Amino acid sequence: KFITIEGIEGSGKTTQIKYIEEYLKEKNIPHLITREPGGTVLGKKIRELLLNPGYKVVPEAEILLYLADRAQHVGEKIIPHLEKGVWVISDRYFDSTLAYQGYGRGFDINLLKTFITFATRGLVPDLTILIDVPPEEGLARIKKRGEFDRLEREALEFHRRVREGFLEIAKDYRFRRVDGQKKPKEIFLEIKRFLEELNG
Ligand code: C5P
Ligand code: MG
Repeated sequence: KFITIEGIEGSGKTTQIKYIEEYLKEKNIPHLITREPGGTVLGKKIRELLLNPGYKVVPEAEILLYLADRAQHVGEKIIPHLEKGVWVISDRYFDSTLAYQGYGRGFDINLLKTFITFATRGLVPDLTILIDVPPEEGLARIKKRGEFDRLEREALEFHRRVREGFLEIAKDYRFRRVDGQKKPKEIFLEIKRFLEELNG
């Protein structure tokens, strides 16, 4: 099974993934926990280029870097693990490209979908969990953990568009939306039910 976790900065993806990992261990389900960008050796280099470029990366180049990271991730790690029956849990996947570069930056969604199909060989998750929080809340949490500087250049307005984008995309049957403002343990109880449905 292939499960992806999506949401804006500070929505609590990493925390929930830790709970998911504990759950899968408890159930003796072989699994791989991974992330985008940065799920492979090449991807880590790309992540560094994306997050600390040191100069202005044009948005078209940014999209292609995210896609290069994803293509490597899918080809080198995700598909080989799924073929062996290992569950793959990814912190972000292509819905982030649709939300950030599509809804956030205004690039054509259908064009992005074409690029995504190429980069992923058409691999779609079995389940995608959207952890939804208002951008004010997410950014406040990020600020507390000292990551805010990097994000300050990206206005609140941008993150509002990204969040609305995620909510729009999440109307698809593949999605389950959880309220990221609830307590982490409560959120996980909901996620656990989705995992049980999948393991059914
Ligand atoms: O911590 P995390 O891996 O989620 O951070 C990745 C960063 O990359 C975030 O700041 C997010 O805004 C950004 N990002 C992006 N476009 C994507 C995926 C991530 O701008 N498609
Ligand atoms: Mg995180």
